[in-house]
Amino acid sequence: MKAEKKKKIIKTIKINVDKCNGCRACEMICSAFHAAPKYSSNNPARSRIRVIREPLNDMYVPVYAGEYAAAECAGRDKYTIDGKEYDECAFCRASCPSRGEFKEPDSGLPLKCDMCEGEEEPLCVKWCTVDALTCEEREEEVDEEVKMENIEIGLASMVDKYGLEKVMDTVARMSKKD
Ligand code: SF4
Ligand code: SF4
Repeated sequence: MKAEKKKKIIKTIKINVDKCNGCRACEMICSAFHAAPKYSSNNPARSRIRVIREPLNDMYVPVYAGEYAAAECAGRDKYTIDGKEYDECAFCRASCPSRGEFKEPDSGLPLKCDMCEGEEEPLCVKWCTVDALTCEEREEEVDEEVKMENIEIGLASMVDKYGLEKVMDTVARMSKKD
């Protein structure tokens, strides 16, 4: 069967590392936007962007939270920049079991950049006063695909952590409450 084509707006955030000054305003606004209720708190650990900071070398690298990975990968990346060796996986975008990055601090659920759903412009881009982050949009024809929604990603992560039976029991118990 032929896959249906549909039009989709693709947003690309461009990161100019040379312009970033490490101010972390992007982390701050992202975490505030995703607080519950919105803007009620500011905790960079909840941010979907984090800035790797190396002030002595005047080097700052914003990294966006990407896909959830249920299992850690067998191979690791290790970068050396300007003579400094960074931790394994330092620049990886995944929320995965091998490290604490890109996980909701209270629940441990994976975090992923959602481009500030509902906002006209990604807020990290709006708050970056030095234009280290800029956003471009284009329209593309793509194959209709079944995407894993956030709720499914969250559930998959809970199942990995606690097992299917525990998650099912909890949902059953919750559905009985009035
Ligand atoms: S707001 Fe812009 S300059 Fe500041 S840390 Fe984020 S990307 Fe860098
Ligand atoms: S686009 Fe929005 S959700 Fe993504 S990192 Fe920037 S502020 Fe956070």
